[in-house]
Amino acid sequence: MSTHVIDSLEFARTGQELQDKVRVAQLTRLVDSLFDAAGNLRFTLCGGYDAERRPRLNLRVEGEINLRCQRCLGSLAYQVASESSLLVLTGKAGGETARIDDLDGIPANPQTDVQALVEDEVLLALPIAPRHPEGECNAAAKTTQDGAASPFAVLAKLKRQ
Ligand SMILES: [Zn+2]
Repeated sequence: MSTHVIDSLEFARTGQELQDKVRVAQLTRLVDSLFDAAGNLRFTLCGGYDAERRPRLNLRVEGEINLRCQRCLGSLAYQVASESSLLVLTGKAGGETARIDDLDGIPANPQTDVQALVEDEVLLALPIAPRHPEGECNAAAKTTQDGAASPFAVLAKLKRQ
């Protein structure tokens, strides 16, 4: 686990791939909207070109985080499984942004912070008003006190998948 800085355009052009984990606690903007900072997120970043020969980065983020239930304010385990194709915007082609469609774009930047990309990806994937299913708020609060949502429990769950 470490921080990664890449040249986004070079990374895409040369088809590089990066896999690592990041501690949720390191993602301070994300932690603000969570119940706690427990857990890790795994990410895979792949460079390449899309069908129109435009440089892009494919980012996949997976892991479990603890959201705060908007009804009981208790911990609500949430499985992150998010994937995006990020167009690397060079700014050279004039009408480029007009043809992005529903793709997300990031600027070509030799100092792209991968951790920030991962954090943005997760922030966009979060439900707006997370809640336990009806009638399960108190039960979930007890589970949290028992420590059932420990990193080891999460890990065991991931291994079973
Ligand atoms: Zn609840």
